[in-house]
Amino acid sequence: MRQASVSFDPIGTITTPYRQKFAIPRQPNLVDARGQITLREDIHAPAVFKGLDNFSHLWLLFVFHQTQARGWKPAVKMPRLGGNATLGVFASRSTHRPNPVGMSVVRNLGWKQSGGTLTLNVGGVDLLCDTPILDIKPYIPYADAQSEATDTLTPAHPSHQRDVSFCDAVWLQLKDVQARYPDFIALLTGVLAQDPRPAYRQKLDDDERLYHVALYDIDVHWQVSSKKVCVQSISPFKE
Ligand code: SAM
Repeated sequence: MRQASVSFDPIGTITTPYRQKFAIPRQPNLVDARGQITLREDIHAPAVFKGLDNFSHLWLLFVFHQTQARGWKPAVKMPRLGGNATLGVFASRSTHRPNPVGMSVVRNLGWKQSGGTLTLNVGGVDLLCDTPILDIKPYIPYADAQSEATDTLTPAHPSHQRDVSFCDAVWLQLKDVQARYPDFIALLTGVLAQDPRPAYRQKLDDDERLYHVALYDIDVHWQVSSKKVCVQSISPFKE
């Protein structure tokens, strides 16, 4: 018998530097991107965060709101396996799921109340800006960290893949951007070092195609040349 459907009201939304899906890391904590969760008004009481400071890490449960309308598939192509191999949806972290719910462990950077607003700062996020948050839970090491856990498909940590360089002209522009977003250069370098190109282009050490990544309100244009990611120019990001 089919279960009755359930519905949830997001508890709030998260603001992150990621303005487009492209180039967001595939999992949390691969890049130190900061996020700020603002709770909805009716659960806006500091009491909801009492004791939260005891936990270094938190689980975020959220809705893959941007891909939700596209539905789901039983088997999904896996970028981390080169793009052509498929896995069952429940053997994957794909965004295209029967219930489009995501889960990420993030660093707890503390909460604050200023004026009438209650916010929680988190680090290492892999969420698009304005993602609806369903729940926040403490990460409990004795239960959540399983030292004997194995993954025979992707055993290696997908760390740094490419060196990143900047054109001289970009350095000048970046001074101004960095003054507004002090984490910008580190964030951009971390994102681009992972080589966010589609799997079939990642094999190219020289790629004539110009790519874009949108971080905060900045559009960054980059290319891969002589094995390195080279930032060519930056401009204001227009949605
Ligand atoms: N850590 C989460 C999990 O395992 O459920 C997310 C993993 S999912 C593979 C990560 C990707 O989700 C990111 O690279 C980004 O492209 C995508 N994403 C993040 N926020 C999203 C949103 N609100 N809607 C749709 N896709 C999103």
